[in-house]
Amino acid sequence: MIASDTLTLAGLADAAVAGTPLGVLGHPIKHSLSPLMHNSALAALAQGDRAYADWRYHRLDVPPAELPAALALLHRRRFRGLNLTVPHKVLAFSLVAAIDPAAQPVGAVNTLRWTPAGWHGFNTDGYGLAAAVRENLGRELAGTPVLLLGAGGAARGAAVECLQRGCASLWIANRTAENLEALLAALRPVAGAIPLRGFAPDTVPADLPAGALVVNATSAGLREGDPAPIDLRRLPRPASVYDMIYNPPRTPLLQQAAALGLPHANGLAMLVHQGAKALEIWSGVPAGKTAPAMAAALRDRAP
Ligand code: NDP
Repeated sequence: MIASDTLTLAGLADAAVAGTPLGVLGHPIKHSLSPLMHNSALAALAQGDRAYADWRYHRLDVPPAELPAALALLHRRRFRGLNLTVPHKVLAFSLVAAIDPAAQPVGAVNTLRWTPAGWHGFNTDGYGLAAAVRENLGRELAGTPVLLLGAGGAARGAAVECLQRGCASLWIANRTAENLEALLAALRPVAGAIPLRGFAPDTVPADLPAGALVVNATSAGLREGDPAPIDLRRLPRPASVYDMIYNPPRTPLLQQAAALGLPHANGLAMLVHQGAKALEIWSGVPAGKTAPAMAAALRDRAP
């Protein structure tokens, strides 16, 4: 079912969209927190500068087969910017006119900016992770040994960010060996001299470093009854644990981190910072200025 405040491609073809429109495209999209986050930040910006008073961030339900037509229509309609969420991030990569160089090795985009020549694609998820790890755990990716769990889209973005920022080493664990191998092969050109290794989550290598930042980029923990993607007790003692999942707020992995007394955080701050960076790309307003209003909107939302 499509919520009443959700736009569709068919609906957009008939309806006028006033002001300076932005939006998020996904399928399903009903539960996205991005409209709340962005509209709260835009309302706060408009208090200081009336130029933002007509900026609105819309929710758009777009199935994958409609993505090319939707991007073309939204470009004609002069949407200033778009976010892309599941399942569009990889598909959109091949549909845009230009790609930000930092997003090229990720192979996926989550933010598009209108230009006369077409959409310009960016990926702000890696920035969001780095900013969240700094804010919640007091760690920089640079110089840190990272143990990344997962080999899907989010893991690829996280891995590229860790390598581009100069992590000390990157170890990746994933359930399905072929997916892990494919990710490692894609990352080798980005890694340069940084040690890059993979392993199966149930066979922990003897030379895995202690003091690692563990980042969960698997979807294990999203559903009730999911197992933790790795047993933290079997690892050399990590320094801290970041789980990209924010709903539920305490996954089995984070519960185990708490029981072991390890600093840990869920993915809410990553959601905020990737959003604030997208708004910076559209408006020029530094992400650090709008992130607090986005975070406050998420804190205050009805459960
Ligand atoms: P994908 O579907 O691309 O990848 C899923 C990954 O999870 C794969 O590595 C898969 O392993 C693994 N996985 C799935 N189920 C299990 C399980 N039961 N046990 C172990 N591993 C499992 O998803 P994404 O990469 O797009 O997203 C991953 C997570 O990151 C999601 O929970 C998403 O919500 C979160 N995320 C959070 C963001 C934020 O802003 N906080 C931003 C983006 C993503 P396999 O290869 O074996 O199938």
